[in-house]
Amino acid sequence: MMRKPFVAGNWKMYKTVAEARHLISELVPGLQAIDAVEKVLCPPFTALLAAAALLEGTDIGLGAQNMHWELSGAYTGEISPVMIAELCRYVIIGHSERRTYFGETDDTVNRKVQAALAQGLTPIVCVGETLEENEAGQTADVVARQVRLGLSGLSGVIEQAGAGAFVVAYEPVWAIGTGRPSTAQGAAKVVREIIRPVLAELFGDMTAQGVRVLYGGSVNAKNAAEFFAEAEIDGALVGGASLKAAEFIQIVQAAAG
Ligand code: PEP
Repeated sequence: MMRKPFVAGNWKMYKTVAEARHLISELVPGLQAIDAVEKVLCPPFTALLAAAALLEGTDIGLGAQNMHWELSGAYTGEISPVMIAELCRYVIIGHSERRTYFGETDDTVNRKVQAALAQGLTPIVCVGETLEENEAGQTADVVARQVRLGLSGLSGVIEQAGAGAFVVAYEPVWAIGTGRPSTAQGAAKVVREIIRPVLAELFGDMTAQGVRVLYGGSVNAKNAAEFFAEAEIDGALVGGASLKAAEFIQIVQAAAG
């Protein structure tokens, strides 16, 4: 099953509008030349409007880093799926920083994924175990639970929309922003032995083989190719290294093979 490589940059809470404009102007020429990869930039909410204008007419997608699940309402400080869908095609859901600092649960992840799909957005659904869970030998249980609950109740939608309608990112929490990535083999094993089997349980074998599963956690220009050499790993969700134009372009080039 051919799965188009996918690389997304999660800018987190970095870049003002002016800084975002500058970074995008540096990224566009290099990224546009790489056809073989689906490329997505996820700036902060405040820079989305400017980013959408700069990316118009390119093949570089725009994503948000979070959203609420309700379409509108009295939710001060929140942004709705309708608002995101005006500007973006993608949205990151359930990033570990959201789970750790903002109380996101498998239930809120599931609501957000359902809401994103209903608006025609492609959710990038993040899963991954903490260091404590990893050391306690709980990786399989935690990751399987996050995939199962985060993607529950979606079989009808995915049957219609197809395996490309969402992306999963395996991001072990201990590897995010630490400069201590997982080994490529270790990450591939989690994808092969835990994530795809749960996807098969939820959506059937064919769909499970078609879903792009990314690795995230301290990916940089030096180590990216090792991850992409693993057949099970279809790309990367990149944090810190996505803020440097030349490095992010090199990562996307590595994904093109
Ligand atoms: C992330 O934010 O999803 C991430 C993987 O961060 P970093 O690449 O900085 O580890």
